[in-house]
Amino acid sequence: MIREGIIFIISGPSGGGKTSLTTRVMTELGNLRFSVSYTTREPREGEVDGKDYRFVSESEFNDMVRENKFAEYANVYGNLYGTPLDQFETANKTGVDLILDIDVQGAKQIREKCSRGIFCFVTPSSFEELRARLMRRGTEGDPEIERRISVARKEMEEMGHYDYIIHNDDLDEAVCTLKDIIESKRQEQQRGP
Ligand code: 5GP
Repeated sequence: MIREGIIFIISGPSGGGKTSLTTRVMTELGNLRFSVSYTTREPREGEVDGKDYRFVSESEFNDMVRENKFAEYANVYGNLYGTPLDQFETANKTGVDLILDIDVQGAKQIREKCSRGIFCFVTPSSFEELRARLMRRGTEGDPEIERRISVARKEMEEMGHYDYIIHNDDLDEAVCTLKDIIESKRQEQQRGP
């Protein structure tokens, strides 16, 4: 019998290093798939449709909402983002574990609906470091960076609802921590209830 894929939910402020962290962990651990979200945000340079996100118009997104195609969705920094339900079905059928990089509003919806998610919150070392990372990334202008910092302060208040907090002061250490979490949850599942 194929085991059910485990769902790992990763949240934390934008610019806090979630993408680098999940990318590294996915290359270092097998049997793990990234949940590709739908978004109405414009693609950034280098982003690939179907790999980073599925880029859709607002009306396409709203059609999907009406058709109940999302496990969760939220407005984040003025754009819509949603996790398609079919990724969960695939995880169930194939036994491949799933990583969701979603914001705190989306994580809350998943927590309410799905009893088996593992919730991890990634924190940057400080707000100064977060600002510096967003500036280094260079994909947002100054007003957008300030907006993301102020949202980050609110997001940090949600940390207490997560199963694990991963401090991303050092990427190598954060990668080890997330890999340990994933491996221990896999072992737990293997041992059974
Ligand atoms: P960015 O625009 O920088 O790629 O992402 C902005 C924020 O949206 C990130 O914090 C990311 O975790 C969140 N996000 C990405 N996909 C989803 C999704 O499907 N649902 C929700 N609720 N948030 C998402």
